[in-house]
Amino acid sequence: MVLHLFNTFFWSFFFAIGYISIYRRIEEGTIRWYRSKQMMLKFGELALVAYASMVEISLRILHYFLTTNMWTMVNLQTVVALYTCLTLRNKGANLLFLLVTLATFGSYGTLTWGLWLALIGLLLILFVVNQQSTWLVSRFSRYLGFVIPFGTFTWLLFKAFYAFSWWSLIVQLFCYVCVETIVFHYSTLLKNRGAASAKLIYETMHDKLTGVQNWAKFNQDFQLYHELMLSTQINEIVLVAIDIDHFKQINDTYGHLAGNAVLTNFAHNLQTYIHEVNSEWEVYRAGGEEFNVIMAGINQPSAQQAMQAYCQQLRDLHITYDGIVIDITISVGITKLLGNDVQAEDTIKRADQYLYQAKQAGRDAIVAGY
Ligand code: GH3
Ligand code: MG
Ligand code: MG
Repeated sequence: MVLHLFNTFFWSFFFAIGYISIYRRIEEGTIRWYRSKQMMLKFGELALVAYASMVEISLRILHYFLTTNMWTMVNLQTVVALYTCLTLRNKGANLLFLLVTLATFGSYGTLTWGLWLALIGLLLILFVVNQQSTWLVSRFSRYLGFVIPFGTFTWLLFKAFYAFSWWSLIVQLFCYVCVETIVFHYSTLLKNRGAASAKLIYETMHDKLTGVQNWAKFNQDFQLYHELMLSTQINEIVLVAIDIDHFKQINDTYGHLAGNAVLTNFAHNLQTYIHEVNSEWEVYRAGGEEFNVIMAGINQPSAQQAMQAYCQQLRDLHITYDGIVIDITISVGITKLLGNDVQAEDTIKRADQYLYQAKQAGRDAIVAGY
């Protein structure tokens, strides 16, 4: 008995850790792949269903040829079923997985009607679990409060099928709860690590003061647009370079913090306007009081009109800091990516030249050119 317990615990423990690690890799990989292809994420979960199903079917085959201890197999399959239902977000994908689970259990062949009903009940519980997963995993006590009755129900179901002793049931149930406890903490650890690295990536791509994307992200995105244009996948990409006029004076007159407030308010105002016109266009802080906007899928005259409308709207923005009202104007240089721009830098230099011309023309001006 002790040996059985040790066997179950040993294999379930390492199996669960391995199952979750690979599951998370597939999850991250498919999300990235589907995003890059602009495809609907819900189909991405099919890869997870395929993986979970393959594991369940493999367990069934291994057990069929008696290479897996029965109790270990039950523990492993229950861990797989619960973890998968807790993580799948798409109802359809979860339903598909539950059908595979039903089929693997059903393949035992000699199930009575009562057992079939109990099995369907078990899958219904898993269906509800899928719907309430966020609530369920938000606290360990909740998770444990579910795992204990769920494990008891599952083990009773298998007891009815295999007729092992009550003592075995208690020992296996104890082992199951221990493994699920480890699963909870390990998957929480992975989730927290994932969130921490996502936060780090976000921070390296965003400007701390204004919250808009930074120069590094601009460079990365603009290089990508440049490559897309060279491969003729997008033919109209407009680059807008913006510089706040006489910004140094604001700093000198009202102080650096007032300058910061101006930068933050302006960035937010510009981003809101740009996203209203086209939610796919992005605003970047190029450095200091300079900002860039990449507009894809628009011709240069329309981009110029959009910026003229913005400059008009900017006259209504009165930034208040410490009781003082500060009004600003901007100078804008606009150009588009050309086929003979060998490097993305060629376009950036041209936008800067037009911006410089706008400054020379007396500021609060827009200059566009090719
Ligand atoms: P122009 O109209 O020719 O653009 O003049 P300007 O004063 O706006 O330009 P200039 O390049 O002379 O000054 C930009 C100033 O922006 C200088 C720098 O101290 C200030 N600055 C750069 N980054 C920040 C920041 O994060 N916060 C604040 N408050 N000021 C900043
Ligand atoms: Mg400047
Ligand atoms: Mg300036």
